[in-house]
Amino acid sequence: MLCGLKCERCGNCCSAFPGLSLIREDYKRWQDADRWDIIDIIQSGKTKNENKCIFLRKGIIDDIYYCTIYDLRPKICRNFPETKEKAMRHCDCQGVKNG
Ligand code: SF4
Ligand code: SF4
Repeated sequence: MLCGLKCERCGNCCSAFPGLSLIREDYKRWQDADRWDIIDIIQSGKTKNENKCIFLRKGIIDDIYYCTIYDLRPKICRNFPETKEKAMRHCDCQGVKNG
């Protein structure tokens, strides 16, 4: 994640993506954690729900978004956003906008 970015957990980045781009390291992480359920979902191809990432949820009380596999999230999600420009181009990141 971009150094100094204060993520506001608006969920925009996990709602505006074409699909999860995964690497071997992601599968290894899930295998090591015995999270075959994640691999099953990935392999089913159903990684989106109403155009949002299937692993994204909105809090009932606090109204902010969170990732249900946060500790095991893919590398591409760990790295996002690499630059402010990329964040704004990709998803109107509220953390960059208000930072
Ligand atoms: S895996 Fe988690 S961090 Fe990555 S896009 Fe989905 S909800 Fe967002
Ligand atoms: S778009 Fe930016 S502020 Fe919103 S959840 Fe993603 S990183 Fe955080």
